[in-house]
Amino acid sequence: MIDPFGRKVTYLRVSVTDRCDFRCVYCMAETMTFLPKTEVLSLEELDRLCSAFIAKGVRKLRLTGGEPLVRRGIMTLVESLSRHLESGALDELTLTTNGSQLDKHAQALAAAGVRRVNISLDTLDPGAFAEITRWGDLSKVMRGIDAAEAAGLKIKINMVAMKGVNERDISPMMAWCGERGFDLTLIETMPLGDIGGDRSLHYLPLSMVRARLAQDWTLTDIDDRTGGPARYVRIEETGGRVGFITPMTHNFCESCNRVRLTCTGTLYMCLGQEDAADLRSVLRSSEDDAVLAAAIDEAISRKPKGHDFVIDRRSSKPALARHMSVTGG
Ligand code: SAM
Ligand code: SF4
Repeated sequence: MIDPFGRKVTYLRVSVTDRCDFRCVYCMAETMTFLPKTEVLSLEELDRLCSAFIAKGVRKLRLTGGEPLVRRGIMTLVESLSRHLESGALDELTLTTNGSQLDKHAQALAAAGVRRVNISLDTLDPGAFAEITRWGDLSKVMRGIDAAEAAGLKIKINMVAMKGVNERDISPMMAWCGERGFDLTLIETMPLGDIGGDRSLHYLPLSMVRARLAQDWTLTDIDDRTGGPARYVRIEETGGRVGFITPMTHNFCESCNRVRLTCTGTLYMCLGQEDAADLRSVLRSSEDDAVLAAAIDEAISRKPKGHDFVIDRRSSKPALARHMSVTGG
């Protein structure tokens, strides 16, 4: 799959549910209306769609959400998709999770061929964690992280940097990740979805974070590219890596190799644009995978050059109405 700008699409992120057992302040409002079941693809439909993308050249698949591990039967999907790892059609099957259910699933994930997981963790302070996630329990996530480590999964921590909320937690998080041997990725808040508050208050440019971190740590630029939008530095004191994802201050679209599928079968060719393709109706109207493949090709031919996020300081409105939990980040 090659888009109109010559970029090869080899990475599919799939949001398997819009539901979640947390209500992170930057991601969701406290009261959310979730999709009715009929609109959500069944596990079999998700499998068929993912397999169609793999047949068309996707080499890396990431399950996300909402919280992927709260989707009932999720392990059935993971186990089924792992056949593409065995056949060599897929290089990597991975997931992004809040970690709350990992203690239950870590072993089975590893057994199904999952090698790495991204775990979202914005602070190591239990009180701050409860405030940021509204419904989360840090000790449960820590148990999940321990279980993932014990199962041999490689762990990357995702941390959303928020002004006045967790900016003081970044340095301790770097030290902790260094001790545990985890990579860390810092993410700028993106203006997606109504969260029932003004996000510009918490917007923290990572250029500032980096400058501040450089006062306490020796940071060396490295050229590591994990196929994602993060730029990495090595922390000489810990030997660990920190990635910076800066959609707001730095455009990473030139090298974009990914598309995003929602749990309703809507394909977004760009995280920051509204244009999408409805693959669910194609999927439900025909058993023929050739029809599905043609619909995927047509969608890829519409992949836009890039996004144009702006956090508008005069308005608290999001740049896009949909929440991150719809497209999975
Ligand atoms: N529930 C899982 C989790 O939290 O890891 C997977 C889905 S979550 C939407 C994926 C990632 O998006 C998380 O790392 C989360 O911190 C991040 N995220 C959510 N809303 C965001 C926003 N508005 N700006 C930046 N990152 C966001
Ligand atoms: Fe749930 Fe992840 Fe969104 Fe937090 S960031 S509310 S854990 S989907």
